[in-house]
Amino acid sequence: MPIKMKCGLEIHVQLETDSKLFCNCPTNYQDTPANTNICFVCLNQPGAKPFPTNKQAIEGALKIALMLDCKMNQEVIYFMRKHYNYPDLSSGYQRTSIPIGYEGDLNGIRIREVHMEEDPGQYKPDVGTVDFNRSGIPLIEIVTEPDMKSPEEARKFLKELIRVLEYSANARGEGTMRADVNISLEGGKRVEIKNINSIKGAYKALKFEMVRQKNLLKRGVEVQQETRAFLESQMITVSMRLKEEAEDYRYLPDPDLAPMQTEEEKLRIIKDEIPEAPHIKTKRFIKEYNLAEEHAKVLTSELELANAFEEVAKEIDPEFAALWMRDELKRVIYYNKMSFKESGISTSQLIELLEMIQNKEITTKAGKRIIEQLPHNSEIPRSIAEKMGLIGIIKEDEIINAAQQAIKENPEAVEDYNQGKKAAMNFLVGQVMRITRGKAEPEHTVKILLKLINSDN
Ligand code: ZN
Ligand code: MN
Repeated sequence: MPIKMKCGLEIHVQLETDSKLFCNCPTNYQDTPANTNICFVCLNQPGAKPFPTNKQAIEGALKIALMLDCKMNQEVIYFMRKHYNYPDLSSGYQRTSIPIGYEGDLNGIRIREVHMEEDPGQYKPDVGTVDFNRSGIPLIEIVTEPDMKSPEEARKFLKELIRVLEYSANARGEGTMRADVNISLEGGKRVEIKNINSIKGAYKALKFEMVRQKNLLKRGVEVQQETRAFLESQMITVSMRLKEEAEDYRYLPDPDLAPMQTEEEKLRIIKDEIPEAPHIKTKRFIKEYNLAEEHAKVLTSELELANAFEEVAKEIDPEFAALWMRDELKRVIYYNKMSFKESGISTSQLIELLEMIQNKEITTKAGKRIIEQLPHNSEIPRSIAEKMGLIGIIKEDEIINAAQQAIKENPEAVEDYNQGKKAAMNFLVGQVMRITRGKAEPEHTVKILLKLINSDN
């Protein structure tokens, strides 16, 4: 009988904004020398008062809460001070808002709440320095109910959540993620794991914890309620503190910040602006375009790619378009290590290319070669095809001529083949390809070559 497990997540990701949450310092902290994107406010100097809360951050957080299908908090929203002492927090408290949304859902996992926070600085315990460039960068925190039943399910949820955040364009990616995970096994107490910085880390930490707790339960040892830290380098968790030492954050409303309220009208405008969430889009693609789930997922992996597919599918048979975009287009952008958006490939280029293939103006093989030329290239596929000499499906006698030429020029290869060296055939096919500039279909070429060689014998 497998032991049942329950897992919930608290995920922090940086919101995408130009300036910090309570001051005008820029947020591009990763490209700047330590302690340069700072001011009296985000250094929390005595007497320095926060500016009114960054509107871009609030709007981003509202959008994300809406995309996670949350009920919106219509009451006044304010920030609390969460007190704790650590070198990266010069004020001694972290400003954290009350929930802006609650009771949401992402693919059947309930979202307990969504709120905003300020990022602390970066403390390096090994050298004893603190970099405050990050201090005050707005964060969104998403808290789930303990609805995940395996490490795999938690990983799947996190991937889907990151996709929602990417779609929103209001949050930074997995690179800024910090998650706390809580896990309990049937018959054991709840254990919290802190210090997780990636989806893979969350999965590994849960796997490790599951085995550790199972072994304890098997030996009849009680699983204690405690907080553990995940050591990413070793992929293990270690005990930080037991329940008795649990922190008291002494939450109190921050008197320096005015409470905020989002007007109904504003919320309506934001609702109209948010993109369809990726998990909803995937389901719609399956139904509307009759796609397999895996294929729909590939096409919705990026908002711009999904939008491009829908544009192309207006002009080209959706099944054919889906096949090319999920296989060949994805292959090309993956190979170039870029997103579809970064590739600069336009929908009109894709439409023209697919039309040429469908109208048999070029072969499938030629289409594959042309699509490889499209990233960062505004040229139209037709002129690329012309330049590469790929226009026109090859005629039968052209292939026969090419095959005869290949045989005539390479008697040793023919001899090798007749001696039983099958690899020699590949060489001959390669020669025909070269002569026809890749326009001949390989399988058909083999048949023609065999016919000619056998008739010579
Ligand atoms: Zn500042
Ligand atoms: Mn938090």
